[in-house]
Amino acid sequence: MQAKLRLVQVRAMALTAIALFLITGCADKVRVFSAPLPSEWGVIVDGTKGGAAVNDARYTDTDQTRTVGNFTSGGASNEEVTAFTNRRPLKLVENVNWTSDNDDVANVTFSPEISVPVAVWIVQGPFDDQRDLAIDHCVTTSGIWQDERMGVRFSQFEIIDATGDPDAATYADFNCTMQAGIEADIGQRANRINVYWVDTVDGGTGRGQACAFGSDFVAMGSTANDELLVHEFGHNFDLRHIDGQATFDMTNIMHSASSTRAFITEGQLHRAHLNDNSALNTTYGARPGEPTRTCAHNADTNDCPVLNTRIWADGAFPAN
Ligand SMILES: [Zn+2]
Repeated sequence: MQAKLRLVQVRAMALTAIALFLITGCADKVRVFSAPLPSEWGVIVDGTKGGAAVNDARYTDTDQTRTVGNFTSGGASNEEVTAFTNRRPLKLVENVNWTSDNDDVANVTFSPEISVPVAVWIVQGPFDDQRDLAIDHCVTTSGIWQDERMGVRFSQFEIIDATGDPDAATYADFNCTMQAGIEADIGQRANRINVYWVDTVDGGTGRGQACAFGSDFVAMGSTANDELLVHEFGHNFDLRHIDGQATFDMTNIMHSASSTRAFITEGQLHRAHLNDNSALNTTYGARPGEPTRTCAHNADTNDCPVLNTRIWADGAFPAN
């Protein structure tokens, strides 16, 4: 009798130990690599969980490794992770092998920040004033890209005095029918976005034009607010306007008429980097060997996170 009771107690203890092991046991993980390691990073994860497809589950962490529960493969979702951090281009890791073990690790090695050269032609003077304005735009663009984890910086912001060009007056009042002419007559540096600072664009001194999505061209008006250039570069990177869309307002860089542009969603970063029409992939060839995708503005699919995907809050709009 005594021995039997002891046996039962031992079995109960063993069961408790197993239960504790399961509760405190391992989980699938995302692990990031970069030098230095990021102070904070975020990731969207696709896979299957508990038999259900999971698309774009969001996680953030300040450590190198983040647990994400038990993902498996073979369901209706993709198996992939897309990671974001400061001063690194987003990294998409496709075909993660999520197994039934809850001990899988998706390794993410961030690439160095993308460096892009830009040529700026001051077509309408006074040159000194317009050069200073261009530098203001450069500083503001760089700051927004850093704050919003764009992972792109200027390697060169060359400002050229074209005010003495005999053709300069022809392009003082610019519209997009003049694009080929201004490139031929004023000048054009190869393999980079060329920016032309004129007087008016489409009739306004505060306006700008990229003239096409994914172009390598920008025209800027003589009094443009200093956060207009990051907007036009957004068009170069294949981004569309967000005017009137729920969960967007004038603080997003892709509002068409604003002086408070500051934020870029992770859904927009995804398109700017991965869309094969983006100047990052065409003009700059800045992502060799990295995957590209064609994500329409309002696409919401396994391959394309919805445009308003936010791992972090953007002003009034919380992470979602
Ligand atoms: Zn625009």
